[in-house]
Amino acid sequence: MPSNKVRTRFAPSPTGYMHVGNLRTALYTYLMAKHEDGTFILRIEDTDQGRYVEGAVDVIYNTLRETGLLWDEGPDVGGPVGPYVQSERMGMFKQYAEQLVAEGKAYYCFCTEERLEALHAEQRANGEMTHYDGCCRDLPKEEVEKRLAAGEPYVIRQKIPKEGVTGFDDVVYGHIEVNNSEMDDQILIKTDGMPTYNFANVVDDHLMGITHVIRGSEYLSSTPKYNLLYQAFGWDIPTYIHCPPVMKDAQNKLSKRNGDASYQDLVAKGYLSDAVMNYICLLGWSPKGEYAEQEIFSLDELVKIWSPDGISKSPAIFDPLKLRAINAEYIRRLSPEEFQKKAEPWIDQAVHTPINKKLLCANLQPRCEVLGEIPEQLDFFDAMPDYDVSLYANKKQKTTPETAKEALEALLPVLENADFDNRDAVFDACKAKAEELGKKNGWLLYPLGIALSGKQRTPGGGTDLACMMGREKTLERVQDALAKLNG
Ligand code: GLU
Repeated sequence: MPSNKVRTRFAPSPTGYMHVGNLRTALYTYLMAKHEDGTFILRIEDTDQGRYVEGAVDVIYNTLRETGLLWDEGPDVGGPVGPYVQSERMGMFKQYAEQLVAEGKAYYCFCTEERLEALHAEQRANGEMTHYDGCCRDLPKEEVEKRLAAGEPYVIRQKIPKEGVTGFDDVVYGHIEVNNSEMDDQILIKTDGMPTYNFANVVDDHLMGITHVIRGSEYLSSTPKYNLLYQAFGWDIPTYIHCPPVMKDAQNKLSKRNGDASYQDLVAKGYLSDAVMNYICLLGWSPKGEYAEQEIFSLDELVKIWSPDGISKSPAIFDPLKLRAINAEYIRRLSPEEFQKKAEPWIDQAVHTPINKKLLCANLQPRCEVLGEIPEQLDFFDAMPDYDVSLYANKKQKTTPETAKEALEALLPVLENADFDNRDAVFDACKAKAEELGKKNGWLLYPLGIALSGKQRTPGGGTDLACMMGREKTLERVQDALAKLNG
């Protein structure tokens, strides 16, 4: 595809979940294209996996859509170099391998499984790394033709030069060189006529006109082999940007097993999509210059300031506290309406009785760091939990179970007459009562909070809780509290 525009691709294998490291690759790939006004391509690499995972491709589509990483070319939207699903391209590769055979850069290999197994066993016994010994590398042409005509099964292998080095420059890891003698004559086409994963990946990148390959550093060691293929074909080598691994700590990679490795896990815990993207962008990348100190970035801002030079080659450690702090900041920046919309599903998990959600949300928003922590704070609305009257004792508020009884008795008539739709009016009426009694507000209202929730820490003070639950429930709970204090 002749074009001088930047073309990048995200080439996920459908595993059924979106690992944080993969999503970061998708983000950097997107940013690289968009920053250069280029094209961001989605290619599904569904041929290298052991088994088909139901719904796995939808996880990729949904995650990219939710996070705003919209692709310009891809399986559903099409484009000039489709199909964009690797399994639909399988017929395209063999001719490229045959071209290399014709040019003497690849060869047919007829070695059987048994021969290779015996060879590898011998190599292992000698303490060598297992490798192909080049048995079929220089078979005479006539013999090859005879064996092909006889229908003998074969693979196509690349002829890797025996001497010299293959080097390449990676934007992140710098110049890397590997001795050709350390590389095996890699298989390009398997016995079934299908390409190996590496071969398909290289041919696809070339046919799709990819200018920048951005992927995890686990592919760094295969890249010299990829380069030898580009060289064999005489194709332009893309710019390589390998990203450092995302680690749980210094020793362990972030893995699916510990329950926080995927985008889906984080969203299920109540992290906001935008906050997750903001955080993962900073996992191993940092902005430079005037933005060096800034931590909160929208996707549009990232597109503007993106540079792959900011990617560090040291492994990135996933810091849950930093993610939490960024998430809290995103929650604080939501409008009250947006917050309520996002909080409501979590509130509904815990509360099944009518409450004033707007007032609840006004109380929750400034304190909430992760939406998933909302339900546990609301467990007293449906049913009053059992509690001990000793909870009424609070040094700071100068309350005891005895003063609580006085306070609740004084509050009852005030609450009976209050307008529960007007939180400030209820508060003012309570405040006036406290003044009349010559007491501090806390002396009067702290016991109300306990009477309504059975808890010391609640999302809102006594009058807020009362207005959230409404008059009827409030009066009932205050009466019950008095009975408990009297009993
Ligand atoms: N399909 C590979 C993966 O999901 C990506 C390989 C690449 O980007 O070259 O890890």
